[in-house]
Amino acid sequence: MDTLHQKSLTFSCADIRERGGLVSQVKPDTCQDSGLFEGLLRVGRLLDVQVRVKFSVGSSAILAEGEIDGKWELECSRCLANFNSTFAGSFDETYPETVESIDLTDAVRQTVLLSVPVKPLCSTDCKGLCPKCGMNLNRGRCNCPPPSAKDCPFSISLRMRDCNRDFKVVNLLSDAARIIKE
Ligand SMILES: [Zn+2]
Ligand SMILES: [Zn+2]
Repeated sequence: MDTLHQKSLTFSCADIRERGGLVSQVKPDTCQDSGLFEGLLRVGRLLDVQVRVKFSVGSSAILAEGEIDGKWELECSRCLANFNSTFAGSFDETYPETVESIDLTDAVRQTVLLSVPVKPLCSTDCKGLCPKCGMNLNRGRCNCPPPSAKDCPFSISLRMRDCNRDFKVVNLLSDAARIIKE
């Protein structure tokens, strides 16, 4: 099978059938106004994308198997800094043999969007921002005191429990004192 290099994600079905299948490398336009990566604007910026697609001709359908990889700029969900990272994804689509052309735009866009992590992280051990002064703790330490035990909401409930227990003990003692007196 020939490998075609092109920029467009649209393929002629007659061409695919004549060749008895097709392998193509596509480098689509990643500029924002190409519309291809519209949905990605909320989470980041696509810097580079490459699509490798293999078309196989069946008895009544054409199968497109695609592999996508690229590079994007995302915002870290912990420290809010922008960072670059790579991604990869794949898709399988079947098209009726009767269609005139196959446009892979939707398949590529959906695959890219599905590859966006729910919580993007600049690194797995990102230290995030100081909750007090907002400094990015990956760039160094701030002068805020480290969080103490009393800031921990869990320790408050522990102290409450101790307090309740002490209160019950005091009640028991005063009941006992009263009984002894009587
Ligand atoms: Zn981060
Ligand atoms: Zn701080």
